[in-house]
Amino acid sequence: MVKMLISSLTLVVLSLSAVTAQNTPIVVSDYPTPNEIPPTNTPQVLEWLKEIGDLSGAPNIPLHTGNPPSCPNPPIKDECYWTCDGCAADDITACAAANTWGLTFDDGPSTATPTLLNFLKTEKLSATFFLIGSNVIQYPDTVKRELAEGHHLASHTWSHHALTTLTNEQIVAEMKWTEKAVLAATGLKLKYMRPPYGDINNRVRFVLKKMGYIPVDWTGDQFDTNDWKMPSITEAAVIATFTKSLDTYVAGNKTQGFYCLEHDLNNNTVSAAQKLIPLGLARKINIANVAVCQSDATPYQAGGTAPMPAVSGLTPSPSAPAGAKATGSTSGNVSQPTIAGKSSGAESTAVSKGLFSAVAALAVIGAIFA
Ligand SMILES: [Zn+2]
Repeated sequence: MVKMLISSLTLVVLSLSAVTAQNTPIVVSDYPTPNEIPPTNTPQVLEWLKEIGDLSGAPNIPLHTGNPPSCPNPPIKDECYWTCDGCAADDITACAAANTWGLTFDDGPSTATPTLLNFLKTEKLSATFFLIGSNVIQYPDTVKRELAEGHHLASHTWSHHALTTLTNEQIVAEMKWTEKAVLAATGLKLKYMRPPYGDINNRVRFVLKKMGYIPVDWTGDQFDTNDWKMPSITEAAVIATFTKSLDTYVAGNKTQGFYCLEHDLNNNTVSAAQKLIPLGLARKINIANVAVCQSDATPYQAGGTAPMPAVSGLTPSPSAPAGAKATGSTSGNVSQPTIAGKSSGAESTAVSKGLFSAVAALAVIGAIFA
């Protein structure tokens, strides 16, 4: 087997497993009912609310209804509602490294996750897993394996409800119970999160920021793989559509990377992932997790660091520090189709216009394939 080096990078796998994790056994009965919005009047949540402090400064935006909700009509002034108006505020919407696919998987862990981990191990790739807390307490060993195999962990809430429909206190409960579960499984306090359905507005952002969380959306509709629509749509359709997105990206200036939406939700989505990733590798697109994309050597609020490998071929940019964010401008001018509209399903899609003006970052995982 001849091994090819992509982008003349030495193979680097993030040593996230090098963290000094302190595991404690997870007792399921200590946690809220899985897949339900946790109550906010329990001693534990009240303690968290006290720690977090005053939330009264949150923008006074009415709660939406539905899961995911419909877009308000008329729009609410200054809401900055990503799924409806494409407004991302300071959310991260694109991988800050040039020519790089920010590889992320949402909704796990599930029984399909180990198959995906086997594949990523073979391909020597590292992803960010946006974990659902309810699933973490069911499959803590899978989360431990993700960490041990060099992946980056992040939050996707406790019950996968649309956050703009929840009260500030419910958002706290959703995030903190997930945080507690992952902390128990791995010793790591999560720092990055992806809102379910991409459903986020300025009120949600305010509450997330109070807890130290950085939202990571995805780079527009064209990077929603639509894997979550299977089996309503075929795998062939998923592959065909995403191939076009990749080709459009490759034809552009590639000064910044992208985040796509994929899921380790079930066998269908994991099967699709194993066919989509080689499409990126074949186009010599680097593949990296969020920590690497954002050059964040401390991708957890506590408990661990991610050593950042030096990478040739990319110029570190002081203007794109860790947590680099989209600006909502289009100064990056990546030639990608902008598809308006909104879907409903496992994740709604959104138009993300935010593009970085600066070439960012450094570390990229070198992908080797046979
Ligand atoms: Zn999701």
